[in-house]
Amino acid sequence: MRVSTAPARQSDARMFSVVVQGYGAGSQRRSERQIKVAFSGLQALIRSIALNGGRILEVIPAEADIETPAAAAAVAPPSPAPTPVTPPASHASVPVNIYKPKEPYLGTVLGNYSLLSEGAIGRVNHITFDLSEGNLHYIEGQSIGIIPDGEDANGKPHKLRLYSIASTRHGDNLEDKTVSLCVRQLQYEKDGETINGVCSTFLCDVEPGAKVKITGPVGKEMLLPPDEDANVIMLATGTGIAPMRAYLSRMFEPGERAKNPDYAFRGKAWLFMGVPKTPNLLYEDDFQRYLNEYPDNFRYTKAISREQENSKGGRMYIQDRVLEHADEIFALIEDPKTHVYMCGLKGMEPGIDEAMTAAAAAKGLDWSTLRPQLKKADRWHVETY
Ligand SMILES: Cc1cc2nc3c(=O)[nH]c(=O)nc-3n(C[C@H](O)[C@H](O)[C@H](O)COP(=O)(O)OP(=O)(O)OC[C@H]3O[C@@H](n4cnc5c(N)ncnc54)[C@H](O)[C@@H]3O)c2cc1C
Repeated sequence: MRVSTAPARQSDARMFSVVVQGYGAGSQRRSERQIKVAFSGLQALIRSIALNGGRILEVIPAEADIETPAAAAAVAPPSPAPTPVTPPASHASVPVNIYKPKEPYLGTVLGNYSLLSEGAIGRVNHITFDLSEGNLHYIEGQSIGIIPDGEDANGKPHKLRLYSIASTRHGDNLEDKTVSLCVRQLQYEKDGETINGVCSTFLCDVEPGAKVKITGPVGKEMLLPPDEDANVIMLATGTGIAPMRAYLSRMFEPGERAKNPDYAFRGKAWLFMGVPKTPNLLYEDDFQRYLNEYPDNFRYTKAISREQENSKGGRMYIQDRVLEHADEIFALIEDPKTHVYMCGLKGMEPGIDEAMTAAAAAKGLDWSTLRPQLKKADRWHVETY
């Protein structure tokens, strides 16, 4: 985008010409055109263009000071659904429900190890299944279903539970024949007794060599845009890192880059990760390696609630980090190439929403209007559970 630096007159009567591509309806959208706008409407127009997937080529002070009807219409943010500029992978071609609960795929466990370090809270494992016997394939951002062995309290087979896929489509060994998960064992106290979640405990305990019933894949909410120049903001808590780990491997793992000549990521990937303690950080070595190798493309911000303090002296949660970086996050969001992904426990949503509301307000924006626009433009992706 070229923005003229010509001195501007200090008056709201100033007019500007905004040269834009891919903005407006029908044929307007397909061509490059100039929109004249008064200084007072310039910010709103720029925001509207960004949110609706247009590209600003130039902003120049205009001599003529007549506002055209087209410009006036353009200043008011249009109400119809914004069109995405960098839509995620074509939804029609995304594999879904290849294996259904009645006839699940039987995947052999290839590996199952703890992702936590000494002193961590709870149990989180990385579990890999062999897919070489069937036709189960998937892409980054999808989930699979697991049907645990055994029966429920009524003597019926257990129902499936969904898990976000933590590997890329090529699998951890890049052979296109495995799928990996990142699973936290659910544990809670009830009436003085410790209750273990059925499926998460089954998965954390399952031994290599065992055969596990797998369904899916499912999900089109968390797909990555194919655009190599996209910006990807990731907000993850705990096992919400699973899809982000797949994205980041696709972006930065050398073997992945060699396998995907049509996806040489050049945009900005910014991971916000929330955990209770340092030993609970997941895939930390990989992320540190990406930071070293791609310092211009990868940024990593941690919120470690029981070790770090927020500005009010309380525990540092991911929403506190979002607030701290509000300016930069919103500057990125104004770019139509930016996608935001949120994944983790449902409880993270209100905090993030509050932080985004405050951050938007600081920039004169209304988050309750902006969020649905981003959602419609396929740029705001949420998977919480
Ligand atoms: C799209 C999607 C993706 C997911 N991805 C992942 C992932 O990547 N990793 C991951 O670990 N999980 C993930 N989950 C969650 C996963 O599907 C299971 O819900 C989770 O593992 C718990 O299943 P379980 O069988 O162990 O627990 P269950 O035996 O089914 O127990 C769960 C039930 O226990 C009760 N319960 C839970 N906590 C408490 C409490 N504190 N007090 C009282 N009752 C309680 C509730 O009734 C709850 O429904 C995902 C879920 C979805 C929908």
